[in-house]
This record gives sequence, structure tokens and C-alpha cells, in this order.
Amino acid sequence: MSSNNGSDKHYKTIIIGSGPAGYTAAIYAARADMKPLVFAGPQPGGQLMITTDVENYPGYAEGIGGPQMMEDFRKQAERFDTEIKYEVISKVELESHPKKMWTDSGEQYTADTVIISTGASARWLGLPSEEEYNYGGGVSACAVCDGFFFKGMDVAVVGAGDTAAEEALYLAKLCPKVHMFVRRDEMRASKVMQKRVLSNPNIIVHWNTETAEILGGENERGHKAVNAVRVFNNQTQEETTISIKGFFVAIGHTPNTQIFKGQLDMDDNGYIITKADSSYTNIPGVFASGDAQDHVYRQAVTAAGTGCMAALDAERWLAAREAEMEMV
Ligand code: NDP
Repeated sequence: MSSNNGSDKHYKTIIIGSGPAGYTAAIYAARADMKPLVFAGPQPGGQLMITTDVENYPGYAEGIGGPQMMEDFRKQAERFDTEIKYEVISKVELESHPKKMWTDSGEQYTADTVIISTGASARWLGLPSEEEYNYGGGVSACAVCDGFFFKGMDVAVVGAGDTAAEEALYLAKLCPKVHMFVRRDEMRASKVMQKRVLSNPNIIVHWNTETAEILGGENERGHKAVNAVRVFNNQTQEETTISIKGFFVAIGHTPNTQIFKGQLDMDDNGYIITKADSSYTNIPGVFASGDAQDHVYRQAVTAAGTGCMAALDAERWLAAREAEMEMV
């Protein structure tokens, strides 16, 4: 039995976040008759809402738009008795039983189990032109998602960590020239990744180089499209304009986990630590899935997979707890 404290805002499971992880958790939890509540959060649908075409999600042979895909996920979750609230959870108390959480309008909800699927947000440079050409105009924060659209074209990557190195190496398989803009005279990426980048003939590393402006115009279909980037050497102030079609920002991601700090174990970058081969966090009854706990794979399909794991873990944890309570 679910302990409901007489509250009509009590649920067996509450899922925080509505990207592929959150909606997949909802589909599985709902089909297990857990009647989940999903808080859609500040960006309902998650990062895929700012991706134009998704061509690597299995099952969509012709590819699909990111927002359409998330609409499909949402409909599938709702088909199985999932309740969705378009609100933001801004405070949680996870140690207590039941677990408590509050929306930013101050309403309190309780749950026996909580699945965290709050995702991560890409960091951006903050240039107005970056915003102008985002959402399909040639600026992207994911080479695996969008690199294919620039096959045979010259592109640029900004950043110097492992993500930037991975993005550059991925793009170098598709693009004749990958310009990599590194703001210092060294890279932060691991030695092995640096070696791969520096020995790749398709990657041109521009040291001490920062982006001044992304340039573009309208393409033949009347859509905004990048056609060059203006960069400067921060030692000499010399400016250069380089022709490119795609501009990939890889300066890190921030997991959306701030509200769980001090309660859930996290690594130095704020990613929630889950127990090996599971979605268990350090707090019993709290499970984490998707990019909030994964800085390595960060794909829609892997997020969905961990959302499924979290729902199965929550269902089994709750069943075991209820069996224990019946014995006492
Ligand atoms: P990092 O924080 O490691 O690196 C961010 C990079 O972006 C740094 O080189 C930084 O420069 C640069 N940068 C930040 N802001 C700007 C800016 N405004 N303009 C230009 N450059 C900027 O992030 P990552 O996403 O690369 O990695 C995060 C974590 O995930 C790391 O621990 C990494 O090792 C890990 N990871 C592991 C992978 C794997 O194991 N396969 C793959 C990808 C990531 P600067 O160095 O000057 O500060």
C-alpha cells in the first residue's frame, strides 16, 4: 500500500523532468500501475526541443524533429495514465518518508519514490549571433546529433576539454576541415584525446583564439544559415574570418541538479552518482536517470534506457518496501 498521509497530492512515484529519460520512466511506471506524476520543468521535453532533426534514434527510419519526438513520448506516457504538470520543482526533501517536494509556486507534493530526470544544459558562449543561428541555423552543441548535416563541409568547434576533442574527432570523419578554437595555449582534454586531435589531418587547432562573432545570412530555402566565423587571437588581437557552415559549442554541460545538492551524492561537476548497474542514488527510494547522472553518453536513447531502469528500480524497491511493511 502506498502511504498517502491523507494528502490528495501524494503519488507512488513522482518523476522530475520530461526529456526522454523522464517520459520513458513515466511509460514504464504507468504500465506498472504506479500512476506517476511528471513535473515537466522549465523546458518541457528537454534538450531535444532545441534539436531540429533526430536521425539516430532507433525506430524512426526517416528521422524525426526533436519537438515532434518529444510530443510522441509525451502522448505515449499519457496513454498509460501518467499525469503531467507543467510546473517546476524548486525544493525537495528526499530523506523523509514520504519524500516531499514543492513547486516554485509553493505547492507541496509527496511521493513514495522519486525519479530524477532533470537533464543537463549545454553551456553557451553568450554571443548574440550564437543565439541567432541556433535551432537549425548551423550552431549546435551536439556533433553526434547534428554533425551529419555538415557532411563534406568545413565546420568549427569551440572548447578544449574532452567533449570538444570528441566532437572535433567525430566531425573530422565527416568534414574536410574542422577548425578548433582553444582559448589558451593548451588543452584541458586528456592527453590521449589531445594526441588524437593533434594528429588528425582534418583538425586545425587555433590556439589562444576566441570567437568574436558567428556570421551568416539566409540560405537558398530562406532559412538562417552560418557561413563564417570571426575569431581573434587573444595575445595579438589579430582578427581572422574563416568560412564554415557549422559551429559547434563544446564548452561543457551543467547538470540540472542544483536543487538536490547536499542531499544526493554528486561528482565534482554536479552529476548525480548512481550505484553501479542501476539507477539507485544514495537515498533509498530516489532514483536518477538521463543526463542528470550521465556525462559520458548523453544520447536520447541512453537517457530513455536509464529512464526505463529507474522506473523498474522504483517499482521493485516499492514492492519490497511494501512487503516488508506487511510483515511488521
Ligand atoms: P570541461 O569543463 O572539461 O571543458 C570545458 C572546455 O571549454 C575547457 O577547455 C574550457 O577552456 C573551455 N571553455 C569554457 N568556457 C569557454 C568559453 N567561454 N570560451 C572558450 N572556451 C571555453 O567540459 P567537458 O564537457 O569537455 O567535460 C566535462 C567532464 O566530462 C570532464 O570531466 C570530462 O573529462 C568528462 N568527459 C569525459 C568523456 C569521456 O570519458 N569519454 C567525454 C566527454 C567529457 P579552459 O580549459 O581554458 O578552461
